[in-house]
Amino acid sequence: MAQLSDDCFAFGGPMMSVDEAVGIITSRVTAVGETERVALVEADGRILAHEVAAPLALPPFTNSAVDGYAVPASDLPRDKERALPVAGRVQAGASGPAAKSGHAVRVFTGAPMPEGTDTVFMQEDVRIDAAGQVVLPAGLKAGANVRPAGEDIPIGTIALKAGRHLRPQDIALAAAFGLTELDVTRRIRVAVFSTGDELAFPGTARGAAQLFDSNRFMLMAMLRRLGCEVSDLGILRDAREPLAAALKGVASRHDLILTTGGVSTGEEDHVKAGVESAGSLVLWRMAIKPGRPVAMGIIGGTPFIGLPGNPVASFVTFVHVVRPTVLALSGAVPAPFVPMPVRAAFAYRKKSGRREYVRATLRRAEDGVLEALKFPREGAGLLSSLVDTDGLVELDETVTKVEPGGRVGFLAYANLL
Ligand code: AMP
Ligand code: MG
Repeated sequence: MAQLSDDCFAFGGPMMSVDEAVGIITSRVTAVGETERVALVEADGRILAHEVAAPLALPPFTNSAVDGYAVPASDLPRDKERALPVAGRVQAGASGPAAKSGHAVRVFTGAPMPEGTDTVFMQEDVRIDAAGQVVLPAGLKAGANVRPAGEDIPIGTIALKAGRHLRPQDIALAAAFGLTELDVTRRIRVAVFSTGDELAFPGTARGAAQLFDSNRFMLMAMLRRLGCEVSDLGILRDAREPLAAALKGVASRHDLILTTGGVSTGEEDHVKAGVESAGSLVLWRMAIKPGRPVAMGIIGGTPFIGLPGNPVASFVTFVHVVRPTVLALSGAVPAPFVPMPVRAAFAYRKKSGRREYVRATLRRAEDGVLEALKFPREGAGLLSSLVDTDGLVELDETVTKVEPGGRVGFLAYANLL
């Protein structure tokens, strides 16, 4: 288990930008370091622990890229078509005889190139004459329609780097090398609590002044998408000592403790006090909307993150604080989000000096350009605003207004989770 020092999240500045937050997390959170070997079918979404160097060239042997006729370059017709007798036939998976000089060999896609040949005429480009010879058109370049051994990946190349978040195509590559298993970092164990006297468990009776706890389910689902092993620890009531005891109690079994709610600076915000008595805590006043503040702490060497209670703030801060923490714990090399440029179909004003995320839907305008449509309302408590939109328009610290028709960067939810 990665042990962090109590001052790991200490931060000097008055307001912290999103980039500073990610920078601190990436540089100060140490990876858990334990790895496990999993079958390829289990490897999707996991973090690769060690680099994979190609044990085999891809393709492993030179082969035909098409169904057709293989010839040596010396037999290529230069200015006018030429008829050659066909001798031999090689299917994919078979190996054929060496080519006879002055003859073509019938070959199929994926078949090894017959010895002595280096160029393939596509079957669509030839005809068979009355004598059964293949008539080859002039003008084909030597080496055409052939896939040389190693053209995809030469043997020994570092094909997959350590820290990579494995995708289906990466797994295909491992299989193409003949591997059956990959070493991945072990799943990050995360303890999740909601906090608040007003929360009721879905499925139980709800008091008149209560609402059903929804954040915990959103956060657990987001964590699972990051490959975490999640402990659902229910709801903590707004009381300092039981809260402190519960947090302390789970620290040793988890790599990260995550809570939602109770971290503003109101007198009923008990998470702050609870974490302070269980370990150490700093409130990160992040220059982000929706979102601030986020509580960062260490309890018994285990990192603690207290997200805001408002669902949209909770969602956005998860993406920018929890996600990088989980990735750092799992030894993943973080890939920065790349917003897609789209046209704004809305007007918006914001303060400079903070990053804002505007919930938006994409649509294709009549001129074919992709446009972002802002969700009509802005409250950080509106779950419908997350449900009914496709992603977030990211407005940088320097931006103060958006005009309809202007260009903005869009981050699809699918890329954030
Ligand atoms: P807090 O951060 O505790 O001050 O909560 C801010 C707002 O978010 C309040 O309206 C809470 O009722 C709401 N809230 C807090 N936790 C949750 C939760 N787990 N699910 C849904 N809403 C929540
Ligand atoms: Mg609360």
